[in-house]
Amino acid sequence: MRQKIVAGNWKMNKNAEETEDLLNELIDKLPADVEAQFVVAPTFVNLASAVQHLEFTNIAVAAQNMHQAENGAFTGEISADMLKSIGVETVILGHSERRSYFGETDDIIAKKTDAALKHDMTVIFCFGEELQDRKDNNHFNVVETQLRDGLFHIEDKNWERIILAYEPVWAIGTGETASPDQAQEMHAFIRETVEKKFGSEIAENVSILYGGSVKPDNAKEIFSKPDVDGGLIGGAALKADDFAAIASAI
Ligand code: PEP
Repeated sequence: MRQKIVAGNWKMNKNAEETEDLLNELIDKLPADVEAQFVVAPTFVNLASAVQHLEFTNIAVAAQNMHQAENGAFTGEISADMLKSIGVETVILGHSERRSYFGETDDIIAKKTDAALKHDMTVIFCFGEELQDRKDNNHFNVVETQLRDGLFHIEDKNWERIILAYEPVWAIGTGETASPDQAQEMHAFIRETVEKKFGSEIAENVSILYGGSVKPDNAKEIFSKPDVDGGLIGGAALKADDFAAIASAI
């Protein structure tokens, strides 16, 4: 069954003490009566404490990235096995900041996805077009290519551990958001693209999150669209009141 999900990507924000404070606030403020999965993605160094802190809550912990290799001479990198060993079961892969600032290609993201799935992790797979792609009316092509090259090699059985996050790059951290109709149009296209390759059951069951300047005042309208199953939230995930308000809008 398709799940409603609200996930917060904290990026490179919050030290150890601030992480603990925000988690405490979220435990207090996130709605208890909403049928949705909540996820937070603090930085690597705070993941272990976040897992412990959230142990008896309905808030899951995700990493923001990982390396595709099992282990070895990759200074500064973190493997799927390391994440699993501290209780992290979910990882965000392919975020546009990883793609644009750290040179992650569809091929690298495909390999990271394979490594995560091999370790039975859930993947929040991010993708989305740049502003120029949309201006050139090439956004559907770009999204289809990212899906095909990054994800469409996986086996059917692995789809139960995939969450898609459509994040138009022009809407991330800019205050500009896709209109609810633009989000719905793309999410429907994504679901149709998954259906063509993997069939209707997988397409109907996969959760597709929208990301890009979701705030308390626009969340409800975006989440009301039939193919939008929740959100991946950046800036607004750093304030407990805002994240809780967005979570309530689901
Ligand atoms: C993100 O980085 O995934 C994101 C959606 O950021 P923001 O909500 O700040 O646009």
